[in-house]
Amino acid sequence: MKKITILGATGSIGIGALDVVAKNPKKFKVVALTAGGNIKELARQIALFKPSVAACATKQAAGELKRLTGNSRTRILYGASGIEEAAASPRADIVLSAISGAAGLKPTLAAIEAGKTIALAHKETLVAAGQIVTRRAKKKKVMILPVDSEHSAIFQCLSGQKKNLLKRLILTASGGPFYNLTQAGLKKVTVAQALRHPRWKMGKKITVDSASLMNKGLEVIEARWLFDVDISRIDVLIHPQSVVHSLVEMIDGSVLAQLGIADMRIAIAYALAYPQRIQNDLPALDLSKEGRLDFYPPDLRRFPCLELAFEAGRRGGAVPAVMNAANEIAVGAFLEEKIRFVDLPDIIARVMSRCPAVKNPSLADVLAADGEARRQANQAIEQMKRG
Ligand code: NDP
Repeated sequence: MKKITILGATGSIGIGALDVVAKNPKKFKVVALTAGGNIKELARQIALFKPSVAACATKQAAGELKRLTGNSRTRILYGASGIEEAAASPRADIVLSAISGAAGLKPTLAAIEAGKTIALAHKETLVAAGQIVTRRAKKKKVMILPVDSEHSAIFQCLSGQKKNLLKRLILTASGGPFYNLTQAGLKKVTVAQALRHPRWKMGKKITVDSASLMNKGLEVIEARWLFDVDISRIDVLIHPQSVVHSLVEMIDGSVLAQLGIADMRIAIAYALAYPQRIQNDLPALDLSKEGRLDFYPPDLRRFPCLELAFEAGRRGGAVPAVMNAANEIAVGAFLEEKIRFVDLPDIIARVMSRCPAVKNPSLADVLAADGEARRQANQAIEQMKRG
């Protein structure tokens, strides 16, 4: 029986993970859950899974949670320190990192410091602080298992392969809802349209990132650190059907791929059960119904966020952290209808162009760069609104 902590239990990945746990009660036991402000959902989860510890974002939310959970035995923590304490909970074997945005980094590091195996959905952890996180994990002999479907696919394809025989990684991208729009069409897209992803059901931030192709850019940097492969050996292919989750090319020209239906519970279950596989009741992939699988190169002119991420990955240091923070602020502004969809790359590029080069940044450097990038991105948004 594996003991599991879920960070971000009330989100799309967290709820998917709890579904996997609920269907496999002999294999998994939840020991800690964390959430932000969705207290009703967290209270429901506590009643169902009876974790030893639960944490939420604020003292007020914790008060409400205590009221809703009555005399349950779950210890309730709150605030950033409470979430970090839950992340390091001594009873867990594996910690699923699925908090969205900047709040996910420190709890993931706390879990690594506590020696927990990490099932990583929170890609921003590796984008902002890839070198620091992978070094700490190595020092603590902690495995980081990918949950992102593309990285799970690559991880599975590389299983049993010698690293020096790998030529390149090929990440697939659905292209999101706007891939066939012209530049003029992109100028008019609404928030509601951006939140309607053609293949995957996800949280709001990642859904907008998928529409701008920034999500694929974040994944390129995530792959660079997860698999220790230079950015120059990572490519992206648009694949609208989202059946081939990613590919690896070996030096002899063999290309290996992992295929499946578009349901995150497959990748979540793979990471949680690793090195086992568990059966599920999801529909099987039927290639005869798919009929055809298309692949084409991404259009970086219409989707410059992907190019910005490649640039950030090549520049290294704190630049990916800056890009990530600027993107998070810009996506928030887009969701609040303060800027247009096409303004996203302009804001990110502006902030990146002012970012000083910091070689081998410490965690303090990364957090400082992140904070400064957020300030500059907010400033750029204000200027844009005025102009
Ligand atoms: P959601 O927005 O659905 O969920 C985010 C989770 O994080 C919620 O539990 C939320 O709590 C919690 N949270 C947000 N802010 C805070 C905070 N300040 N303090 C504590 N908890 C907080 O996101 P997703 O599940 O879609 O994504 C989570 C991560 O997984 C992201 O990094 C994303 O990139 C990655 N990922 C997601 C995929 C998907 O299919 N959804 C696929 C691959 C990767 P609450 O709701 O209670 O406020």
